[in-house]
Amino acid sequence: MAALQRLTVLGSGVLGGQIAWHSAFKGKSVVVYDISDTALEGCRAAHENYAGIYLGDLGASTEDITATRQRLSYTTDLETAVAEADLVIEAVPEIPDVKAAVYKEMAPLLPTGTLVATNTSTLLPSEFASATGRPDKFCALHFATTLWAMNFTEIMAQPATSRQTLTVVTEFAIEIGMVPIPVRKEHSGYLVNSWLVPLLNAAQTLVTNGIATASDVDRTFLVNGARFGPMGMFDMIGMKTAYDVLAYWGGQTGDTQMSANAAYLKEHFLDNGLLGMHTGKGYYEYPDPAYQQPDFLAVPGLSAVPSIVSLILPD
Ligand code: NAD
Repeated sequence: MAALQRLTVLGSGVLGGQIAWHSAFKGKSVVVYDISDTALEGCRAAHENYAGIYLGDLGASTEDITATRQRLSYTTDLETAVAEADLVIEAVPEIPDVKAAVYKEMAPLLPTGTLVATNTSTLLPSEFASATGRPDKFCALHFATTLWAMNFTEIMAQPATSRQTLTVVTEFAIEIGMVPIPVRKEHSGYLVNSWLVPLLNAAQTLVTNGIATASDVDRTFLVNGARFGPMGMFDMIGMKTAYDVLAYWGGQTGDTQMSANAAYLKEHFLDNGLLGMHTGKGYYEYPDPAYQQPDFLAVPGLSAVPSIVSLILPD
């Protein structure tokens, strides 16, 4: 029997929902915890969507999907959620105070041996180690969105993390089919977000400042043969988390362009309930986003020249 068989996921949004579903698919018993029934309903709906993806794209059988569903439970009661957990993965919003509050509330409820991992995108686990009440049993385990296709996870310690914790967490990552990526020093953004956040911020700057449309930004990326571009990635990540990251780091670093990019996301997406792919609309509409259509990269006819020129040099 694996050391970490019973998983609890805190936060049932984009990533928490994916981690929970995928871990259950791989045989783990999973409790999903969130603060509201509405959030859990959204998670259940996302899980039905993932069932279709796993059946259609990953070769899962209907028996696999039934077993996955049976290994999942959902609750808004934190004490119940963690009562039997071997491992808790925290995937609540990328807001330091929210994470710290969850850890503090959870600490007295945890069984002695339970390990805790944060899925934070850009914050440092050392910031939360004491709040967990068990620094030696706490590390970062960072997944990427659409983790059934982007199957790597970054594993990072903070100064108090024990070797035993890293050993069984790495085993867990492998057991659920992830390529473990060791992060050799505690570092904000791990490997992936060290390059992805600057890329997304640069792409968003082009849109915020009216230099290009989101589609044209993505066209310059997709000619490389990529499946999606940076603006499509905003949709996949989810506008709420993208906003949280840009707003927090814009404020922390005094980067006014980054803060302006966060404000753009708030005004154009969050305030209108357009949260990205999981809600059907962000920069693109889903399930059939424009960037997947054959004409997205088509060379236009010469008749399109006047309208293109007037975008470069308005009349
Ligand atoms: P999300 O906004 O989609 O979901 C967050 C969920 O947490 C919501 O369902 C919300 O109701 C719930 N929540 C809020 N307060 C809570 C609390 N006190 N206790 C429990 N649940 C609470 O966010 P997300 O995109 O899933 O991101 C979650 C974490 O994962 C963040 O730290 C984020 O940086 C990280 N992450 C996200 C991605 C991504 O692509 N979205 C990738 C890697 C890591």
